Amino acid sequence: MSSDPSDAGPSWIDEIPDRLAALDAAHLTRRRREVRPAEGASLWVDGRRMLAFCSNDYLGLSQHEALRDAAIQGARDFGVGSGASPMVSGHSEANAALERELAEFVGLERALYFYAGYATNASIVPALVGPGDALFSDALNHACLIDGARLSKADIHRFEHADLAQLESLLQASPARRKLVISDAVFSMDGDVADIPALIALCERHDALLLLDDAHGFGVCGPQGRGSLAAVARTGAGASRRVIYMATLGKAAGVSGAFVAGPATLVEWLLQKTRSYTFATAAPALLAQSVRAALRVIRDEPARLARLHRNIADFRAGLPAAIAGTGWTLLPSATAVQALVIGANDEALRIMNALADAGLWVPAIRPPTVPEGTARLRIALSAAHEPEDIAALLRALADAAQRR
Ligand SMILES: *Cc1c(COP(=O)(O)O)cnc(C)c1O
Repeated sequence: MSSDPSDAGPSWIDEIPDRLAALDAAHLTRRRREVRPAEGASLWVDGRRMLAFCSNDYLGLSQHEALRDAAIQGARDFGVGSGASPMVSGHSEANAALERELAEFVGLERALYFYAGYATNASIVPALVGPGDALFSDALNHACLIDGARLSKADIHRFEHADLAQLESLLQASPARRKLVISDAVFSMDGDVADIPALIALCERHDALLLLDDAHGFGVCGPQGRGSLAAVARTGAGASRRVIYMATLGKAAGVSGAFVAGPATLVEWLLQKTRSYTFATAAPALLAQSVRAALRVIRDEPARLARLHRNIADFRAGLPAAIAGTGWTLLPSATAVQALVIGANDEALRIMNALADAGLWVPAIRPPTVPEGTARLRIALSAAHEPEDIAALLRALADAAQRR
């Protein structure tokens, strides 16, 4: 009698090379590059210097002296690792101070600091809703909100991007007692901003809670970069007891990690019930110290945010002439994320490669990250870009458009 599993025929594991080949044939293989920072917004990429338009380091803080020094001093004061979950011994004085400062910065009652944004969303959604509850999700939401929705086992109602009329009818039709609306505040692949006051008004009318992911708005939108919710504070939106604000700290803040903020009771609930908070080692204090330095820099060096917005304005002013006659579309965006929709996967890749030959790193984003037929260049602008960097990008795009 044989128990050799190979008797059952070929294993599914042997099909993986063919599946990899199929990805490659569909131009969907992703390759990593080995990078090291160079001056300004440039990177050494596989040994070659390139001007980068691919980093979410929107304020150029990842290379800032004050953040580096805070991390180094944090390592001296606290060591490197945190040793345990925040629920055990991992909640350092630095992490506690950061939570107070984050809450103050975004104008909300209380904040909770997480080691990563992906783990935060994937885990706070199931902490808020479960089987029998209802979730309402914008079609262009980030993958980690979608994964959190699936993990929750609540009923998921997807609405077309920014279609608040459809959202309203879905809310109306739902008999669920607990309803949660989830949305990016700034959409990560398009750069547009959700209509936050309208979302909150809908949540008020239908007794729903709103989870806003401001990964791309924190540090960029609102007065002093205090985020997309602070940007609409005049409407009274920031004070709503129905909003859970979430933002990441590895983008404009230049470090790593994430936080949620909102009414103290809701944050206490998330502290009690979020599995990626309870069952994960706390973010190291040296990173918390570095984020605290980032908050000080964001407050004390407003010229950085002004430089970012000047670069956005210069890019948008120059682009139409550069790409005239191509049929490429620049999506509306007042944020650092500028999406130039090309359409076909292979054409987007061709343009990315042409820009790379000119020394510019601009990533092509393809399905399934974006909808079929909307492959695009995702141009990430930063305060680290000089005016001549924006001019170089516009020139290279104009060249690519001519040689199309
Ligand atoms: C980057 C990103 C995340 C994930 O945050 P990490 O800290 O990188 O894990 C979550 N949501 C959005 C919209 C993002 O762009």
